Amino acid sequence: DDLVSPFAGDEELDAEVSVRPRRLAEFIAQHRVRDQLELLLRGAQGRGTPPDHILLSGPPGLGKTTLANIVAAELGTGIRTTSGPVIERSGDLAAILTGLAEGDVLFIDEIHRIAKPAEELLYSAMEDFRVDVIVGKGPGATAIPLDVEPFTLVGATTRAGLLSGPMRDRFGFVAHLDFYSPAELDALLHRSARILGVPITPGGAAEIAGRSRGTPRIANRLLRRVRDYAEVRGDGVVDEVTAKAALTVYDVDQLGLDRLDRAVLRALIDSFRGGPVGLSTLAVAVGEQSDTVEEMCEPFLVRAGLLARTPRGRVATEAGWLHLGRKPPEGRGV
Ligand code: ADP
Repeated sequence: DDLVSPFAGDEELDAEVSVRPRRLAEFIAQHRVRDQLELLLRGAQGRGTPPDHILLSGPPGLGKTTLANIVAAELGTGIRTTSGPVIERSGDLAAILTGLAEGDVLFIDEIHRIAKPAEELLYSAMEDFRVDVIVGKGPGATAIPLDVEPFTLVGATTRAGLLSGPMRDRFGFVAHLDFYSPAELDALLHRSARILGVPITPGGAAEIAGRSRGTPRIANRLLRRVRDYAEVRGDGVVDEVTAKAALTVYDVDQLGLDRLDRAVLRALIDSFRGGPVGLSTLAVAVGEQSDTVEEMCEPFLVRAGLLARTPRGRVATEAGWLHLGRKPPEGRGV
């Protein structure tokens, strides 16, 4: 029931596919990336060759998988999808590569998590469109060279910094996706509502957009929950009042904080006078594991400017005090 997680739940993927943009022109915002991709794709099409390999980096839920599928749709080619952690042995990857048709897109999600031997195999495939498959072990092992049809690799990563240098160098085009502004999410919500057949007012869209943490996946998810509420308790229209009431029921506040985020902030302020306090102490105070607090809550609390990590521990910022309706103590200087 983690409504503001940027990751997709298993049952969520079907719901997502229905509103997923198919073409570049339908992809909301990220204008710079869109313009650059358009040039890359049209240029390659004009020359009749597959475009350079493409690396998409950025936080989860911002449209990397969507863009990979759009690249294939714009080129009119097939797409094969896999992910770094799934490719354990280089033989698995060799089978995928040699099965590609000319011009296909190979999408590897979480490419920073690919195993080293597979990564090395990928280098020669990306560069020379060939792979050496090693057969046998020890002194009797032989390398059998296999051709790979010219293809375009689209790699996605949430952790570009973890990619090895040689890997990064083999991408001719690198794009970074940024969080969306509320106005951009507003446009996205109007589009999704149109596709889902949900009547939405500007006030309703704005209310959801402001709570979506800059992330399309979260915006679409909140829209589905607010639609439920509007259909069950209202007249089916997603307006400002309905959106506010629904998101109160679901415990998502005006900034997009959920129950646990607020519990962390409240503990920091009420139990530790705003800090500094160590992560593990703070986690115990809310009855959670340190990892959960560090990975699920802190990144957004920091991004929203409510909490700061200092060498002496976690500290509530002035905005953090104000968000909970408390008066910040004088002269804290954070
Ligand atoms: P990622 O691969 O970066 O985790 P996805 O491509 O799966 O993210 O996007 C998550 C959801 O958000 C998808 O269902 C998609 O429909 C929607 N989405 C993402 N970016 C956009 C966009 N720019 N315009 C419209 N919908 C988007």
